Amino acid sequence: MPTAYRNNQGKFAAWDTGPCYCDTCRALFREDSGHDIPETENWENPVWRQYNEWRYQRIARWVKRMHAAIHEVRHDAVFIAAVQLMESLDTIRPGGWDIDYWVPYQDVLTFECQRRNTAPWWPGIQAKYLASLAPDKPRWMTTSYFYPWWRLYASPEAENRPWIAQQFANGVNTWLHINGGYSDLFDRRGLAPMREVLRRLERWEHYFDGARSVARVALIFSRHTQDNYGGGKPHARYLDFVRGWYQMELLFYRYGFPDPGRVLANAVRWALAEEPTVEVAAPDFVEVTLMAQPQRMLLHLVNLPVGKPVNTGWRHIGRNLVTVNDIVVRLRLAPGTRVREARLATGETTVPVREKDGSIEVTVPRLVDHEIVILEIA
Ligand SMILES: [Zn+2]
Repeated sequence: MPTAYRNNQGKFAAWDTGPCYCDTCRALFREDSGHDIPETENWENPVWRQYNEWRYQRIARWVKRMHAAIHEVRHDAVFIAAVQLMESLDTIRPGGWDIDYWVPYQDVLTFECQRRNTAPWWPGIQAKYLASLAPDKPRWMTTSYFYPWWRLYASPEAENRPWIAQQFANGVNTWLHINGGYSDLFDRRGLAPMREVLRRLERWEHYFDGARSVARVALIFSRHTQDNYGGGKPHARYLDFVRGWYQMELLFYRYGFPDPGRVLANAVRWALAEEPTVEVAAPDFVEVTLMAQPQRMLLHLVNLPVGKPVNTGWRHIGRNLVTVNDIVVRLRLAPGTRVREARLATGETTVPVREKDGSIEVTVPRLVDHEIVILEIA
């Protein structure tokens, strides 16, 4: 670890203050826009939308200023400004946090990933966003093993394992947050399993360095749509749609109807007009990502905990990881590509590769929480 971490200083920025009507803010906004700060939040009012955007810009300027000031004192200091993605509208909107504006002023891009009232695949969507936003910068997400607002209660190992695994499966490093809140840390149940997971990740470190997603399909979303289209109903008009499309479709997401998911999957296949790169025969609670390093493909399998309804609002804690056996993975290779060896990261064991019609097939005998199929390219 860089020595700069020795003087680790943290500061919470305000996220629940609402608009500030002090003389300075009023004068600055008037100077920039020619308007007074609106008295009420009204998304139909263009001045309110202008003020909203102005606020994100002002906070970004503060981040820039802090970054410069800290580096002036210590050139090797590491400055991060942790933020959350849109799932946390209650904090990012009033806080004026837009990480897109902060990219040049952060040494490590960081998302908080602690709240657990979200969908089980939430760390994955955040990690994908972070990795696409800044592919050439170091990236972290916080992982806690407790519940926000119930900080003394350890979340079960079955939930923590895939929570962390998804970050690495999408090209992001983790930052384990150990916190007893305002009391001593007496619930230590989560510590031993986390130690084991982090040791495994350390062993796998060379599989993460410089690994990039080779996904051919993307979900594109923007904070501008969230605010300017979502307006006063950002959950219903924006967030549900992002979450819904991410996990196939709103009806599937909210109510679990399988057919809308099939329709969307078919639409993606039709629009791509090519054979899928990856096909995995596994239950729908297995998450799949495909990453690449030079001369190497890395297919991550993450087992999401079941017993956890995927709906909006609070959801139940994931307590069960159901081991999946004999997962068949099929990969379509670029013409002329040949796989020299296939291994599984857990035991560094080689597995047989079956070739047919420009594709290869590998069987993963057992998935507990996280596995990487490593394909060494000849
Ligand atoms: Zn002010």
